[in-house]
Amino acid sequence: MPLLSIVIPSYNEEKMILKAAQTINQLLKESNIPAELIFVNDGSKDGTWESIQRASEEIESVKGINFSRNFGKEAAILAGLEFAKGDCCVVMDCDLQHPPETVVQMYRLWEEGFEIVEGVKLTRGKESKLHGMFSKSFYRLINQATGFDMSKSSDFKLLDRKVVDAYIQLPERKLFFRALSFWLGFKSVQVEFDVNERTEGETKWSYVSLLKYALNNITSFSTAPMQLITLIGVLFLLFSVILGVQSLINYLSGHSLEGFTTIILLLLGTGSLIMISLGIIGFYISKIYEEVKRRPRYIVSGKTDSRNE
Ligand code: UDP
Ligand code: MG
Repeated sequence: MPLLSIVIPSYNEEKMILKAAQTINQLLKESNIPAELIFVNDGSKDGTWESIQRASEEIESVKGINFSRNFGKEAAILAGLEFAKGDCCVVMDCDLQHPPETVVQMYRLWEEGFEIVEGVKLTRGKESKLHGMFSKSFYRLINQATGFDMSKSSDFKLLDRKVVDAYIQLPERKLFFRALSFWLGFKSVQVEFDVNERTEGETKWSYVSLLKYALNNITSFSTAPMQLITLIGVLFLLFSVILGVQSLINYLSGHSLEGFTTIILLLLGTGSLIMISLGIIGFYISKIYEEVKRRPRYIVSGKTDSRNE
């Protein structure tokens, strides 16, 4: 029987670890799927690592990786995938918002020959209106900039060994799991799932972190923001030429120029556009800087299992 690896990034989830491990383990046993559960502790501030260690003593299939600090969910996913030995891997959240029953469904589809099984959100679970609005516009933006429709996509996916190997070979420092599996190609299929409610702990996304995530991912996949700057620049140039011609005509026909307000407005307008443009360019440059430093994407401080050193 082929082995299934389940990668579970965990940050401040001490209350969830054992419960998640038991639930998933139980279900997979009943479905006769041999599996390993890889919990990646992403530098939690609570007792998550201790919980993982305890769970790994209690349940044989549970393994743990401990980060030296918080490197973010993307890094945790990568570490889990690099560690995984399975013939296919599922990435899922620790809070059981991704229903474990769907994992079985994904595995069956994989057995049928699909190489990527995408978990697609049927509903978005409970979230605030503002949050919903925010993510909607984020996805619209991403869709336009990158050409991938990811509005219902999630990090809940099954990847075949081939896909995992392709993914972990990508050299960039900043990865975006959700979109890269689109980018990779392969034979894929979608399964729909209902987002469960979080029972313990709380969501780790603040509005600031969501905004950072959005900016990061748009600039990872597209240079459209830089092209937009050029376009705005051209429009402004056209506008100023028209304004210049109009003032010249006014001057020639004997009207003196008035309009302190217009000048101030134009100054402010161009000033702010220049600042925004510099900001966008700066963002790309800082990204290039991050990439050329070639620092490791995460640092492991311990494991419950000594393989893959
Ligand atoms: N997570 C992580 N590192 C972080 C933030 C989150 O590994 O810096 C994990 C978290 O433990 C959970 C998953 O990513 O398993 C999704 O996080 P969360 O439930 O907070 O996100 P939401 O479901 O609200 O989108
Ligand atoms: Mg969650």
